[in-house]
Amino acid sequence: MNLPWHSSAHKKINKMIDHNRLPHALLITGVQKIGKFDFAQSLIQKLLCKESSCGKCSVCLSLTKDEPNANLEHGVLIRRSHYPNLIYCRAELNDSGSMSKDIRVDQVRAFCESLGKTAESLQIGIIFYADQMNINAANGLLKTLEEPRKNTLIILLAHHVRSLPQTVLSRCQTIHINHTYEQESADWLSKNIDKDSRDDFDTLQLLESSHGIPYKALEDLKGDFFFQYQNWQNLLLEIAISPTKIYDTEIFDGNEIRVLKCLQQLINEGIKIKILNHEGANLELNKVVERTSSNYLFNLQDDINSAISMSQTTVNMKLLLDNVLIIWSHISHLKKYPAITNIQEN
Ligand SMILES: [Zn+2]
Repeated sequence: MNLPWHSSAHKKINKMIDHNRLPHALLITGVQKIGKFDFAQSLIQKLLCKESSCGKCSVCLSLTKDEPNANLEHGVLIRRSHYPNLIYCRAELNDSGSMSKDIRVDQVRAFCESLGKTAESLQIGIIFYADQMNINAANGLLKTLEEPRKNTLIILLAHHVRSLPQTVLSRCQTIHINHTYEQESADWLSKNIDKDSRDDFDTLQLLESSHGIPYKALEDLKGDFFFQYQNWQNLLLEIAISPTKIYDTEIFDGNEIRVLKCLQQLINEGIKIKILNHEGANLELNKVVERTSSNYLFNLQDDINSAISMSQTTVNMKLLLDNVLIIWSHISHLKKYPAITNIQEN
């Protein structure tokens, strides 16, 4: 099944296949839940099925039975796939029964060893997620990445490219799966939303609130996140219109980062409205944007990006959000854009 937001990634890979330039090592990147695994599965199907992913032949049928995410007690799944030359490597359960955060060097060694065996037909090794490999494990993979056996494809899936060492990156060709805000993805969402859930919402907006990750949108909808998000958005807009609303923000407590992301989305949307010079669907946002200088929107966008990137540090997020909200509450009548000290210093 090709997901609509994977189409440009598919185009890229098809081009490689058509020109016989499929690399030995392929790195598939994209945020969590963007469907990297689905993409890898459909690529494997494309490579193995003789009838271009027919979905009916024995290869296609056996591939759909593969559930490498099950059987969690094994870190390297050798010959466990329904296609005998498919080898998976991933983090395993540790002794305390929880999922290990690392992929260790002995796992990678076992993985490489299995791939080193001669095989008549195409061998495919998948590591998920490659950014979980510790440094020894990553080093252990280098030789195999450099000199793979003939007829072998290694696929690495990774959420965060920056967590991968340069030595690994430079040996792979990368295919990135982007966030999606397209109508086709919204249509896919409409088709995949549970029929029993509420249907009085706009799927494009739902996609936006889930940061362009359709699978996350489906998940958000199961909880009350989407409705909570709408409440945050409404309050944020009220604050920009009547600044005294800044004293009624208890619904933000404990959700500082997600509220910052919600505001980030509003500002991004606002900047789009300014640049395209036409009104958006959100009347309140139009009102705020109309009265605000685009420079201030860009300034605030920068500050919010910095604030979000600081969420991993020990910074006091509540204080940071309060500071951002003070600027936001005055955004349409600022004389000069103020500096947020604890953001600028970092
Ligand atoms: Zn087939």
